Amino acid sequence: MTTHHPIAIVGAGLGGLTLARVLHVNGIAATVFDLDASPAARTQGGMLDIHDDSGQAALHAAGLHKEFRALVHPGGQAMRILDRHATVHRTEEDDSSGGRPEVDRGHLRDLLLGSLPPGTVRWDAKVTGARPLGGARHEVTLADGHIFTTDLLVGADGAWSRIRPLLSDAAPAYTGVSFVESDLLDADARHPASAAVVGGGMLFALGDGKGFLAHRETDGSLHLYTALTVPQEWINSIDVTDTAAAKAAVLAHFADWDPSLRALVADADGALVPRAIHALPAGHRWDRVPGVTLLGDAAHLMSPFAGEGANLAMLDGAELGQAIAAHPGDTEAALTAYEQALFPRSQTAAAMSAANLQTCFRADAPQGLLDQFTAHHQAA
Ligand SMILES: Cc1cc2nc3c(=O)[nH]c(=O)nc-3n(C[C@H](O)[C@H](O)[C@H](O)COP(=O)(O)OP(=O)(O)OC[C@H]3O[C@@H](n4cnc5c(N)ncnc54)[C@H](O)[C@@H]3O)c2cc1C
Repeated sequence: MTTHHPIAIVGAGLGGLTLARVLHVNGIAATVFDLDASPAARTQGGMLDIHDDSGQAALHAAGLHKEFRALVHPGGQAMRILDRHATVHRTEEDDSSGGRPEVDRGHLRDLLLGSLPPGTVRWDAKVTGARPLGGARHEVTLADGHIFTTDLLVGADGAWSRIRPLLSDAAPAYTGVSFVESDLLDADARHPASAAVVGGGMLFALGDGKGFLAHRETDGSLHLYTALTVPQEWINSIDVTDTAAAKAAVLAHFADWDPSLRALVADADGALVPRAIHALPAGHRWDRVPGVTLLGDAAHLMSPFAGEGANLAMLDGAELGQAIAAHPGDTEAALTAYEQALFPRSQTAAAMSAANLQTCFRADAPQGLLDQFTAHHQAA
């Protein structure tokens, strides 16, 4: 049986949920479809710094800023920059005055989910295809064979969007940098030396096209991204079922690094998770196609080195919701207004992200990052 949803959002990530919430506060119903079997199907993990001019602006539009402030991780804005010898080049304390407080991604997602009317999100609903029906309508097919039609289709379905091909031929390309993710649990008690190396917030230990990026999470664990400039074949070859071999393969890249940094990987609890970092071309855009648009990573996937992806996804969702509310009965005017702001904003952020990636992995790293912080402080 075919059902009809006036507004269908594909993807219950931070972007899709922010859109659904902003529509809801404006009295407009939407349905969100997500491939996960339930809200708890995947650990959301990771800390996000939420910027005042993007992620926090979106939370104001969603009427959730006060609730967000209650989730902030005290001390999370602290930062340390080290080199391969574990020499500390810069430290920043979290004085709580910065405009980028840290929150746990899972807590933020739960906040958005809990703010939606029951039944807004359809779980276990993987979109496998979509096609135009004419007159701005689309037909969407789910993996279980269910088909629905919609008057407004929003692709909020991340890097490998199934909706993007309706608008653009662009595909994410490998950036040349991969992460291997790992965790050190209950760090103060079980890994005190590593806890001291990372500090209370974020650690950058960089050199020679690679490094360790880590942060302390709200549950007292340390989450580590080991960053490597490697061919994609190398990262694909890591055997995640053999943790000891995976650790050895990663640590072979850091043979002459300080033991306190190597210990972040050597002592990791649980399996290692490889992740090749992809990006869409900076400046990705499309011609207006009636009845469909994109937001977040589906529109402008970029490497995480600007720390903007989640923030922009939320801002996109908020602005799209506000544009729809501001143009009742004229979806095309709403989408045009939304995309006019979206394209230049995401082009700027994607260019910054690509430049930051180069800066972090210069041969003389961490010098580029240190220069950036110095310039930022002089400008402030
Ligand atoms: C290692 C790493 C660190 C990062 N750190 C930061 C940071 O510190 N700050 C920051 O701002 N950003 C960061 N980012 C970027 C950020 O994670 C993304 O930009 C953000 O999650 C994008 O949100 P989104 O809602 O667009 O997409 P996503 O979060 O990817 O959500 C997409 C949703 O769509 C669903 N979905 C996908 N395909 C389908 C389908 N076919 N059918 C139905 N549902 C589907 C998925 O299940 C998912 O729930 C980081 C990214 C990485 C990889």
